[in-house]
Amino acid sequence: MKMLTCPLCNEKVKEFHKRSHLIPEWMYTNCYDEKHKTLEISRLKQKVTKRQKGIYAQFICRNCEKETQIFDHYASLILTDKSPDSPEYKCISKIQNNGKMAEYEIWGNINFIKFQRFILSIILRTQLAEKMNGQISITKKHLKNMLNLYRDNDNDDSSYPIVVYKHPENDKHKNHVILPYINKKDGHHIIEFTGAGFIFNVYVSSHIKPQYVNSVRLKNDGSMYLIIISFKETGLFRNTKLMIKETKNA
Ligand SMILES: [Zn+2]
Repeated sequence: MKMLTCPLCNEKVKEFHKRSHLIPEWMYTNCYDEKHKTLEISRLKQKVTKRQKGIYAQFICRNCEKETQIFDHYASLILTDKSPDSPEYKCISKIQNNGKMAEYEIWGNINFIKFQRFILSIILRTQLAEKMNGQISITKKHLKNMLNLYRDNDNDDSSYPIVVYKHPENDKHKNHVILPYINKKDGHHIIEFTGAGFIFNVYVSSHIKPQYVNSVRLKNDGSMYLIIISFKETGLFRNTKLMIKETKNA
């Protein structure tokens, strides 16, 4: 019998899990509008579509699927208000700040390994399912490094730093999901995706990262700074504004 190699764990398996998601369902469901649909913005086709379910593909083994679900579940507990009594939710400390430049929150007591793996797994799944969009692609070297980072149980928070932004609660445009795509920010390659009212940026470059990235990034002591930014303030809004309007009126 022909065996398959799981690209995430390198194990030989008979078959892959039939329905692996790219972005977990809860990141969509948390975004449902009054018609129980969420906006999904496709960067490649520059279009906004309403969809009820996430995107699924068959490309990793059952064990990897199970493992990523652990990370997804952890993230759902700390990023949404759905389980306010869970120890994971209660554990997170949040300090609100009004800085000169921007409003931000400082979070503490995050389970670094689980939260970092959650973000890496969404990026790796999208890349391995060949759904990554953008003008450029991840180099083989970076893909290999990121796979190693995902597999190894170490606390490296600086090779591929993660910066998380949060949309304000009252932001009427915060309900959208964007699949991971490659972008350029301040001369650095980043992979960006959004969902559940958050923007996730992972810096993918061998250059020295900007100073602010080192200050606000997710750290292995379980802390991170979340800059509060309305969707209107993002460059993405300017590019997709008209499309959102068209979709809403459709
Ligand atoms: Zn696997």
